Amino acid sequence: MDAGTLSDLDRAHLWHPYASVAAHAHPVARAAGVRLTLADGRELIDGMSSWWAAIHGHNHPRLNAAARAQLDVMPHVMFGGLTHEPAVRLAVRLAGLTGLPKVFLADSGSVAVEVAVKMAVQATGRGRLLTVRNGYHGDTFGVMAVCDPVNGMHHLFSGLLPRHVFADAPPGDHGRHLGPEGEREPSAPDPAYLAHLEELVARHAAELAAIIVEPVVQGAGGMRFYHPAYLRRLRELADEHGLLLIADEIATGFGRTGEMFGCDHAGVRPDIMCVGKALTGGYLTMAATLCTDEVAERVGVLMHGPTYMGNPLAAAVAGASLDLLAERPWQEEVRRIEEGLAAGLAEAAGAPGVADVRVLGAIGVIETVEPVDAGKVQEIVMGHGVWLRPFGRLIYTMPPYGVTPADLAAVTRAMTAAAAALP
Ligand code: PLP
Repeated sequence: MDAGTLSDLDRAHLWHPYASVAAHAHPVARAAGVRLTLADGRELIDGMSSWWAAIHGHNHPRLNAAARAQLDVMPHVMFGGLTHEPAVRLAVRLAGLTGLPKVFLADSGSVAVEVAVKMAVQATGRGRLLTVRNGYHGDTFGVMAVCDPVNGMHHLFSGLLPRHVFADAPPGDHGRHLGPEGEREPSAPDPAYLAHLEELVARHAAELAAIIVEPVVQGAGGMRFYHPAYLRRLRELADEHGLLLIADEIATGFGRTGEMFGCDHAGVRPDIMCVGKALTGGYLTMAATLCTDEVAERVGVLMHGPTYMGNPLAAAVAGASLDLLAERPWQEEVRRIEEGLAAGLAEAAGAPGVADVRVLGAIGVIETVEPVDAGKVQEIVMGHGVWLRPFGRLIYTMPPYGVTPADLAAVTRAMTAAAAALP
């Protein structure tokens, strides 16, 4: 099908994320390594790792081989009452990586968070959660309730959602912040904010099942990096008041922030952890909710069971993706990306429409003063051969770990050009 027909039929029939059915989407013909090839022949560097997922790049021979091998053995069987080697191997790997021995294999990040909320409610018999403003945990109904109802994407539904307890967004910053005068020191933890957390937890503890947070990086709620001390204090408060701590590592997991998990910045082990996105290296839709033995014991029969739970194809690819991660020097690669982003985005810090430029691990963010014209920014970066998806006041990247210095420089040049063109 030619590019024009694809576009027309797409607009006639398909919804895309957060878009009307008539919205335009660019047809992609192929994806390999860090590059997407559009149906019209243009090549773009995938500066988004296809939404934090394709950490090894696209069309990786090892992941392809794992998928093909599993396809010939058993693409899928139900997980109710049956098990299989790819799921068992994956659970053992995840338990080893996280220190959380019990694993529920969910089929998307949102469902993994739904399961985490159910675990917390079943384990404690309490129904409310403490969550943080500017947080984002997914789009299903139970999960929308723990996202920020005011600033978030879910305000249309806010009247229909259970009422949880909201802490203010963490103030200050973490990671590397670049200004026109060079890098500035990240903020120290704010004692007033710590006191706010303490007061809120103490006031609501009797009705709270758990505290849910995105460790160290609030992703879709603003790409904000916050001080690990807040996460440490939340762990202590959960312990002091008999609450569970849920870490949503769906975006931050598997090395993106420079540590294997965001929690590792704070030396914190949660009671429940959600992983997804990069779990299958961006190949198949699988996520996981992990918990301690104690939580599993308190939960008993967990009331959740998706049809495609434990899908063997996804589990086999996830296993291969974790093998690849263990073999590649990802810490070094992410550190190199962090350096490249810091150097490449420094110039953007001086642009008049730019409020902040920040980098943490393999995440680079230009925060603008006013909301960006996403279409215009996309046009500029695509003109530089780069695929990004700006939103709100954010132009940001999280490239695959194998991105070359030249391709990374192309990404930062594209972002800098977009920043320079801000009104
Ligand atoms: N939690 C976090 C922190 C996320 O960033 C996302 C997706 O962006 C989700 C949960 C939801 O995951 P999914 O889109 O796979 O449902």
